[in-house]
Amino acid sequence: MIDIIESTRDLLRKQRYQLIGEHSAAKLCHWLKESIMRNRVCYKQKFYGIQSHRCLQMTPAVNWCTQKCLFCWRPVRFTEDVPANVDAPQYIVEQSIKAQRILLSGYQGVLDRIDAKKLEEANNPNNVAISLSGEPTCYPLLSDLINEFKQGGFTTFLVTNGTNPDILEHMDSLPWNLYVTVAAPNKKIYSKLCNPIISDGWERLNETISLFPSLDTQKVMRLTLVKGYNMCEPQEYAKLIEKGSPTYVEMKAYMFVGFSRNRLTIENMPSHEEIRTFAEEIESLCSYKIVNESPESRVVLLSRE
Ligand code: SF4
Repeated sequence: MIDIIESTRDLLRKQRYQLIGEHSAAKLCHWLKESIMRNRVCYKQKFYGIQSHRCLQMTPAVNWCTQKCLFCWRPVRFTEDVPANVDAPQYIVEQSIKAQRILLSGYQGVLDRIDAKKLEEANNPNNVAISLSGEPTCYPLLSDLINEFKQGGFTTFLVTNGTNPDILEHMDSLPWNLYVTVAAPNKKIYSKLCNPIISDGWERLNETISLFPSLDTQKVMRLTLVKGYNMCEPQEYAKLIEKGSPTYVEMKAYMFVGFSRNRLTIENMPSHEEIRTFAEEIESLCSYKIVNESPESRVVLLSRE
């Protein structure tokens, strides 16, 4: 079974993905490298207390998705169907940690220029961000995968596009931090920007938002903001936020990276000031207040707490 066709594999390898089994992948996060080399950390360390240099960024669904978002990092034209047989969670966890070590091995040659202690710790990651590429809820054993990471002592982050509410509703093992991406205030903008390949993507996303209050874990609604596309209708975003009642709302700029550069331009990447101004508009329309921000990552955090 070859689920990721060879040309896609080549493209992903060129982007420094370490491919795992038939449908998973890991890649070093920019902020892991910044932490080891320059002692600069990502907003997730600042907001949620995880350590950037011990974060494993991976996906069990590198090329499966229900959407082909204009802002996606991955080569969306290669979106594939989920096959009948998939790799086992234990295998994916073991191989993801191995992949992280392979990706880090190059730093052994520059020990005089990096934080060697952090590098050693990075080889033993303790947080997993299941988010890299593709839609993780397409992997049918996602709950077991999260459980497997938890058994290995990991804190777990999951980022979903919200189009599989049934999967989330029936997960035995929820992630410690559950993100849903909300990249549109209404169906018209959703259809244009998120380009769903299912007919009822917007309705399913709204089902996930309605389900959110009943899920017993820390929840984040992430507004991925693309200038010229979705930085409008703040009152509609405010209604979605109130409906989902998440622990946090992250308003984050689209970043002009990866394959999204073939679909958007650098002008579509908002500045931190533009994100902050839009966050203030939303703050004035709902019960959430700005509680933190990270200009380096162009992200503003809101909460009721
Ligand atoms: S939902 Fe995520 S993986 Fe799927 S196309 Fe959009 S950005 Fe890419």
